[in-house]
Amino acid sequence: MPSMTQRFDVCIRGGGIVGSTLALLLAQQRLRVALCVQAARPSVAGPDGHGDVRAYALNAASRQVLESVRAWPEAGLPPDMSPPVTPVQRMDVMGDQGGTLTFSALASGHPALNWMVDVPALEARLAEAMRFQSLVQVLPASDTPPATPLTVICEGKRSATRTEWGMDYEVKAYPHHAVAARLLLSAPHQGVARQWFQQGEIMALLPLGGENGRSVALVWSVPADKARHLLTLDAPGFITEVAQRCQLESSTLELTHAPQSWPLELSQASRWVLPGVALAGDAAHAMHPLAGQGLNMGLGDAAELARVLHDREYWRPLGDIKLLRRYERARKADFMAMGQLTDGLFNLFRQDNKLVQNLRNWGLSGVDQIAPLKSWLTRRATGLRDPEPPH
Ligand SMILES: Cc1cc2nc3c(=O)[nH]c(=O)nc-3n(C[C@H](O)[C@H](O)[C@H](O)COP(=O)(O)OP(=O)(O)OC[C@H]3O[C@@H](n4cnc5c(N)ncnc54)[C@H](O)[C@@H]3O)c2cc1C
Repeated sequence: MPSMTQRFDVCIRGGGIVGSTLALLLAQQRLRVALCVQAARPSVAGPDGHGDVRAYALNAASRQVLESVRAWPEAGLPPDMSPPVTPVQRMDVMGDQGGTLTFSALASGHPALNWMVDVPALEARLAEAMRFQSLVQVLPASDTPPATPLTVICEGKRSATRTEWGMDYEVKAYPHHAVAARLLLSAPHQGVARQWFQQGEIMALLPLGGENGRSVALVWSVPADKARHLLTLDAPGFITEVAQRCQLESSTLELTHAPQSWPLELSQASRWVLPGVALAGDAAHAMHPLAGQGLNMGLGDAAELARVLHDREYWRPLGDIKLLRRYERARKADFMAMGQLTDGLFNLFRQDNKLVQNLRNWGLSGVDQIAPLKSWLTRRATGLRDPEPPH
């Protein structure tokens, strides 16, 4: 039982998407949460006032979590606003030697493979949900954080609090940066996501704004030097480079939001928990965005930690290390599997050896022919509880 003088049960450090979602989940359990946030970053808004140009691919498990805290950005939208959530109906993956792999929501019996979610819209929705939750108090990170039985660190990859607690974070920096931008196609995207693995680079054009929309989010993993160069180009120069990589006519593409870039890494904290402390989201782990899984993992952390705390024995305090280890065990295993998969794919498609090129393209087309394997992969990507792999 918390003492009478204690104002909060849990202190969450970091008010990104993972920290905010966790705060709302814990408040639903009647826990009193202090959410320590940094002042908003200086705006990186484009010409239309848009901030972060990314759109996240969120899976069915993430959707469930966000809906449970009323933060799924689709609900209750004014009719004049363009939809911030776009279902992905099909995904085409193209290798560099003609190998292709197609995933279809219809064929796999899912309403969508995943949903492309506008990042600023999701952040705004979370902030709104927070305003209606009196058990979450937002505090400036510059103040001394309140003493609580449990502190959860959700400060992202470069967390200072994690370092203060002496929790190591092993970083394997990739030689690539991700360049993201928004484009307008000349024809509707029809809910199709396309991804190219070409000459060691990975490009995705992800549908935004409804089936008949023409907007797409670009995510392009390129060597760091090239990323810097791409950011110096004017709009026509940038479009020429994009068109070359995805073999589309430049005239069918228009740049609507200027490119931004992010360094990429595979990283993981060696310990995710200490007595009274837990890490979640990118503060615990980060991976290459080629499979669009980083935030899905982070929301999975938030959901699992909330579940473990909810199901604890009545006599166990919130910061009990045995309790927190249950969370760590479950989530570390999930991260290891996804982190290794993305790392393996990144390295496989970087090799320019002819034999490896042929094999990987043959592998893509081969997987395309094996229906049970494809549906198992599709199901895994939903983030819902795993079925057994096909035999
Ligand atoms: C190009 C790109 C595309 C991506 N696409 C996808 C995708 O399609 N799908 C997907 O699932 N994931 C995707 N990701 C991954 C996703 O961006 C991250 O996994 C996610 O943002 C992590 O959220 P977080 O809340 O853990 O950390 P962050 O978003 O880093 O938030 C951390 C928060 O903590 C705050 N903070 C930092 N230090 C302190 C402090 N000392 N005190 C208080 N607050 C602090 C920061 O200001 C920030 O608000 C992508 C990543 C990249 C780079």
